This record gives sequence, structure tokens and C-alpha cells, in this order.
Amino acid sequence: MRELTARVKEGLRGIGADLVGIAGPDRFDGVPPNQDPRELFPEARSLIVIGRAIPRGALRGQEEGTNWSMYNDFAGVGLCEYFVPSLTYHATRVLEDLGWEAVPVYPHPPGTQPQGVPVAEGRVAPNVVPDVRYAAVAAGLGEIGRCGLLLTPRYGPLQRFNMLVTDAALEPDPLFEGSVCDQCGECLRQCPHGALSEEPREIEIAGKRMLVSDLDVARCRSCGSGERSNVYDPEGEPDRIPAACGRACLAHLHERGLVEMQYRMPFRVREPWFPGGEAR
Ligand code: SF4
Ligand code: SF4
Repeated sequence: MRELTARVKEGLRGIGADLVGIAGPDRFDGVPPNQDPRELFPEARSLIVIGRAIPRGALRGQEEGTNWSMYNDFAGVGLCEYFVPSLTYHATRVLEDLGWEAVPVYPHPPGTQPQGVPVAEGRVAPNVVPDVRYAAVAAGLGEIGRCGLLLTPRYGPLQRFNMLVTDAALEPDPLFEGSVCDQCGECLRQCPHGALSEEPREIEIAGKRMLVSDLDVARCRSCGSGERSNVYDPEGEPDRIPAACGRACLAHLHERGLVEMQYRMPFRVREPWFPGGEAR
């Protein structure tokens, strides 16, 4: 198992995966059936989460308030619809060339996918799609920060993921034991609309506990601080990475050296702007 896992990981990194994490099926015990990879592929023995980093420069237009489309072109549509699915396609080839079936999964947001009726009694209605944030935590890649974004120790909030469900029995990665989010509260303070609750709630994924604020998604839809609609499904939560909350988190993590990825210049070099002129 160890040798196969090392071979698969090396193959995935070789085709351009910046992040690779593996979870066993038991880490999905208790999730809703329409998010359980075993409903997607009952013979599944592993779920692999693969990711590519979002270039920090793709957020520069939002940070300066001078360009919305760069992020969309390279970190939104570009990464979500082309670069990461292309990586995922090649990842299926890595696994299937070794004789294992690999089910490629596009990370549609949870709750937006019912598209039919069960094909038989006792079956789950299509479409079953695992929640990618849950899967990334279950695969040991990071944690959910107070802001509700998935944070990894290398890139903070800057990455996109796809998933592969496979019958290859791979060695699961340990859960991420450290913490990227230090509960600084900058994401709350810099949200111009009070959409993140002051009091966090404890959530748990595969035994890992995290403190996360509740989110008023309706406020995010008309935020105006740089958010983009969800590329995977317009009904899903808006993409908040380039919004005031996501950029506040990124600026904080870089300023405090809380992520491994470091740059010569700080992310935030001027006072941030806010829709209407001021933060709350
Ligand atoms: S997207 Fe806007 S409204 Fe929503 S949490 Fe972020 S800053 Fe607040
Ligand atoms: S801004 Fe601070 S509290 Fe919010 S998610 Fe980032 S590190 Fe956590």
C-alpha cells in the first residue's frame, strides 16, 4: 500500500498537482448520502483531493480595486474550468494506467445538485457530489478557517481542488494537526456587511474540530468588495477569496508569516478599500 501510494503521489505531482491529499472512505462516515463518495463508487477505497495554487497576483486587481476580470480569467474560470480539470483528467490517466478506476469529481457546491429522482428504491437521487471543503480537510490538506474558507498551511486560502474516487487502496494522509487560522477576527472586522457571525461555532470533520463563523450568504451576493459568483454553480456560495474577507485573511496570514508560501513584497501595501468607503 505504501509503495503504491508513493507512486501515485509522485505521478500526480509530476503532472502539476501542487497539493495532494488522500482520505479513506471511513472519513466520510456520517455525511449526507448525497455527499458520500461511496454512493458515487461503492467499490471506492480512497478519495484523492488534488489542487493547484491560485497565483497571489490574480487578486491584485481586487486588492487595488482596479480590475475584476483578471481574477476571473486566471483564478476563477481559468483554474476551475480548465487548468484543474485538465490536471484531473491526467490524474485519472495516472491511476488508470496502473489498472485502477478513477472517478473524476468536479466540486459542485453542496446543496445545488439534486437533478433527478432515485433510479431505484433505496438509492440516492443524482447527483452525488462530495463537499470539496470537507474532503480537503478529511484528506489532511488543511482546515476551515474562521472565515469559512479552506486554508492550507502552504497557500492559505489560495487554491482550487478537484477530487478522484478510486478503488486503489492508498494510505490515507493524517489529518492536519496544526492550525493556519489564529482566530484573529480580521475577516469579520473587514466584512463591510456583517455577514460573518461574531460568535464562532464549532464544526467537526473526521474528528478534527474547528471554530467557524456562520455566514449570511445573501449579504455576500451583493457585497461589492470583489466577490465573484460561484464558478461551479451560480446558486452556490459566492467566491469570497477575492472579497474583503478573503483578502483580509490573506493579508493577515502573509503579514504574520502563518503560511509557508512567502513573497518579497507584502500582499497589502496600502490601506484596503471598502464598498461605500469604510469598513463597518
Ligand atoms: S463576501 Fe463580502 S459580505 Fe460576504 S463575508 Fe466576505 S466581505 Fe462579508
Ligand atoms: S482572517 Fe484571521 S480569523 Fe479570519 S480566517 Fe483568517 S486567520 Fe482566521
